[in-house]
Amino acid sequence: MPFCPKCRYEYVEGVEVCPDCGVKLVDELPEEEPPRGKLVPIRRFKSRLYAEMVKDVLDREGIPCFISGDDVGILGMSGFTGTDSVWPATLWGPEDKKDYIENLSTQMLDHI
Ligand SMILES: [Zn+2]
Repeated sequence: MPFCPKCRYEYVEGVEVCPDCGVKLVDELPEEEPPRGKLVPIRRFKSRLYAEMVKDVLDREGIPCFISGDDVGILGMSGFTGTDSVWPATLWGPEDKKDYIENLSTQMLDHI
């Protein structure tokens, strides 16, 4: 069956151009868009709070990222009562945005 590579709609045999998109149909759909580079550890912050601040900016810009807290093990320690914001954390982001995120982090931390 022919498919439209743009809207991924399936057409009956004989149709050659997608009436909606005006693109030539293909026999097989290409793979789903590949993820924008895999996420790698970009920078280690001495406080999770700083990592959260940078992540806020990245979230707003639509850059995928997450924070892996080194606090996971610490939280399991007996007698620990503080907040996790004072513990080191690592910010992860796309490999191709590494430089950008590092610069952003440096700029932001300069103002603290
Ligand atoms: Zn289409």
